[in-house]
Amino acid sequence: MTSWQPEPRDKDAIARAAEALRSLDDWLIVTHERPDGDALGSALAVAHMLDALGKRYAIAAGEALPPRFRFLPMYDRIQSIDDLAPRQFQHIVAVDCADEQRFAPVAPLIASERFVVNIDHHQTNPRYGRVACVDPLAAATCEVLYHVARALDVPLAVDLAKCLYTGILTDTGGFSYPNTTREVHQIAAELLASGVQPYDIAEPALEARTLEQMRLLQIALRDMTIAPDGRYAFILVSQAMLASCNASEDDVEGLVGFARSVETVEVGVLLRERPDGLVKASLRSKRRVDVAAIAQRFGGGGHARAAGCVLEGTLEEAKQAVEAAVIAALREVDEACKR
Ligand code: 5GP
Ligand code: MN
Repeated sequence: MTSWQPEPRDKDAIARAAEALRSLDDWLIVTHERPDGDALGSALAVAHMLDALGKRYAIAAGEALPPRFRFLPMYDRIQSIDDLAPRQFQHIVAVDCADEQRFAPVAPLIASERFVVNIDHHQTNPRYGRVACVDPLAAATCEVLYHVARALDVPLAVDLAKCLYTGILTDTGGFSYPNTTREVHQIAAELLASGVQPYDIAEPALEARTLEQMRLLQIALRDMTIAPDGRYAFILVSQAMLASCNASEDDVEGLVGFARSVETVEVGVLLRERPDGLVKASLRSKRRVDVAAIAQRFGGGGHARAAGCVLEGTLEEAKQAVEAAVIAALREVDEACKR
């Protein structure tokens, strides 16, 4: 038996985040809009750590939460702006937020004199906040938070472990994406030792689809467009399509994976018409194209293999703009290959 322990890459940053959580009280925990497994797992992991430290806190979300993550311990503690207003908080923990815009919906709850602790893993994070604990090599914000929990010396109790495991599981695509490292598996093994039952999390978080989601999948795949050379694919989802299958905004989650999964595809794109009329783009790549760079050109960001942005115009106009950027990016990687 080896007793290899995963070490944090930036010990100082982890120590600074832990010190802030230990020394201050009365926190507001925030994460990004349309939260995913890592966003909610991270927010609730921080809540469990603050509980262990005997601190007061609230957790805020700007909109309805994805029901698939109901199984997360303390999910019901997440409150809306209306629940918490007109209170304003000075001490903010922002998790999995690539920039401050990502938690803009909860801005009314944040005092202008603020102390923000920014815990994240996006390469495009500009290191905002009084404490920035950002590790772009971490597979998930929950991986960073595992090290924060260690630094705080709080017990890896099963409820905290479930939250951390959920973020790591979902952001690695079930331990399959290239961000899946030896450290990731080592941490996951420790979380299992704390009592996490992997299928109790994988089933709701990754496998389960609603019937509405299945119907949406049928029509979305029927209309999927693939480049003549097969190297990129687009899936477009309009509000009318959602209405025709009685599907919710949450039911769109995961569709982009189908665009990427086509064997010849390097870049998969999902364009979704939002209720406010703007178009949300989700970009995914397999091995070569930096989709965060593409998303940044449209004011968004993310990771090299998974990124997003918001565009104005119709779905078709957004498709033209993003398609041109994808073609240029593919050409660029081809040129770089030749050099
Ligand atoms: P998704 O496509 O699933 O919404 O997001 C993929 C990745 O890109 C996530 O890591 C997410 O945080 C990031 N991302 C998505 N949309 C935006 C955006 O509008 N701005 C920034 N900075 N990052 C985004
Ligand atoms: Mn994440």
